[in-house]
Amino acid sequence: MTKKAKLLVVEDEMAIQQGLVDLFVFNGYEVEAYADGKEGLDAALQGHYDLILLDVMLPSMDGFTICNEIRKQSRRQPIIMLTAKNAEEDVINGLTLGADDYIAKPFSIRELLLRVEAVLRLSGKHEVQDSLKIGKHLEVDVVNLSGTMNGKAVLFTRREIDVMCYLKENQHKPVARKELLTEIWKYSPNADIDTRTVDIHIAKLRKKIELDHKNPQHLVTVRGEGYKLIL
Ligand code: CA
Repeated sequence: MTKKAKLLVVEDEMAIQQGLVDLFVFNGYEVEAYADGKEGLDAALQGHYDLILLDVMLPSMDGFTICNEIRKQSRRQPIIMLTAKNAEEDVINGLTLGADDYIAKPFSIRELLLRVEAVLRLSGKHEVQDSLKIGKHLEVDVVNLSGTMNGKAVLFTRREIDVMCYLKENQHKPVARKELLTEIWKYSPNADIDTRTVDIHIAKLRKKIELDHKNPQHLVTVRGEGYKLIL
């Protein structure tokens, strides 16, 4: 690592916050931490962080609102939500609002570090391929996370771009949800994998790239196999 990656942790449970700070410092990251939601948002909007970890339940402002506010300013900012275990609504909410990933509490340290590294690694990617044409109606600017669909501007999150690029690189075959989770989200292959993350992202993406998202022609499901991108 040439430069230390800088992380922001917004977590009000002090034992968890301190544990995260110690863990990240030990692993060579620079970390700032806040317990209050509004203070966390101010820091997020003013500082330059390589990654933000957001708890959901926080004093003064919850993690979803913070995520939403950050996304209004930056679609590129990598965000991981820290959700309670079995809180399905939290996961769906967080991903819908544009979080890149979530980690359910209580998390394993190994899993957490893997996911953090994965999100950091991906955020520096995609200088190679800079545009992606989908059908006749859409051209995607991979670097600037934007596109033009029939003359209208479309905005993408970095994760959505990652998914499209990965599917394009593997166009010759359908890509399984589990493969996307290990290759894009960097879940460890043996983890108890929840493939819903992928489905939520695909559904959002279809609304942006398909002329009729209920009848997808480009981002198609191959039954029992996974997803395929048809350009
Ligand atoms: Ca909390």
